[in-house]
Amino acid sequence: STRSELNQGLVVGSHGRHCVVETPDGERRICHPRGKKSQAVVGDHVLWLPALPGQGDEGTIEKVQTRRNLFYRQDEIRTKSFAANLDQVLILLAAEPVFSESQLVRALIAAEAEHIKPIIALNKSDLVEPFARAWERLWPYRHMGGESNTEHHYRVLPMSLTESGSVDHQALMPILAGKTTLVLGPSGVGKSTLVNLLVPGAYAQTGEISQALNSGKHTTTTTTLYWIDKERTTALIDSPGFQEFGLRHLAPTDLARCMPDIAAHAGNCRFYNCTHLHEPGCGVRERVLDAGEDQKQADAISANRYRIYGELFEELSAPPKY
Ligand code: GDP
Ligand code: ZN
Repeated sequence: STRSELNQGLVVGSHGRHCVVETPDGERRICHPRGKKSQAVVGDHVLWLPALPGQGDEGTIEKVQTRRNLFYRQDEIRTKSFAANLDQVLILLAAEPVFSESQLVRALIAAEAEHIKPIIALNKSDLVEPFARAWERLWPYRHMGGESNTEHHYRVLPMSLTESGSVDHQALMPILAGKTTLVLGPSGVGKSTLVNLLVPGAYAQTGEISQALNSGKHTTTTTTLYWIDKERTTALIDSPGFQEFGLRHLAPTDLARCMPDIAAHAGNCRFYNCTHLHEPGCGVRERVLDAGEDQKQADAISANRYRIYGELFEELSAPPKY
């Protein structure tokens, strides 16, 4: 085979080491990486070679093009990359089940570290009381980084995917349009419901690919890119489960710059390498609200977020478990 046979493609599915690669005219084909360097993830632009005549129709990925960003997650054993070239990350939470703020912070940090814009959507607004409580817990996220509504650092959207809901998924469309969005969320928040609403038959498609790969239920980490529109300009990337976000590729000292409320005050610390944990003259600690205090101060740091910062700092300082 010669280099002239190299084709362009976009990785739209990843099932273990196999990838589903989509050509510019929309054809799909299963490809294997040539070696370690051609290990691709969903969202990757790749160059691939078709199989030689008589050797089946599975291709080989020869080269992964330079990535704009790369998102990681963590299983029990290690941190792994799983999606690339994202425009934004949609973190889906719900009134129920009650979300873990620490998990939310991890997801936000993972996005910030790659300069990917996170959007938080709180689903099940029809469950009035639990929704009000969850919305309240998101107060620091709704107000971070500015007093006016337009300059807030995070976008936080109320949402409902039931017919009785006041705000439905259509409110999301202008935000998603023309972009590639990674959808994340712990189980039970309505992620499958959302993907199925936006991409009718999405899960049937996944089934077909798993079958084609003859891996069926053994398919462990399946990440899929779905086009919302026929023109293939708007994409959702979905990955089952809500693993811990891999933050192991970050140093503890990277954390502060990935938490905008902490970063905003880090310039006021006496020491340039302040960890904001115990140093004197720390501009960050000065702005942390006490647990008893009213947490509704837009330019302050909530007690919960500061506690989570400390926990993550410690976690990333410890040697890996494996
Ligand atoms: P996933 O685990 O995140 O994929 O969640 P599912 O999409 O399977 O949804 C979990 C449950 O929440 C299902 O019973 C859905 O019908 C329900 N659900 C999804 N969206 C809403 C919503 O907006 N309001 C309410 N009350 N239930 C919802
Ligand atoms: Zn400090």
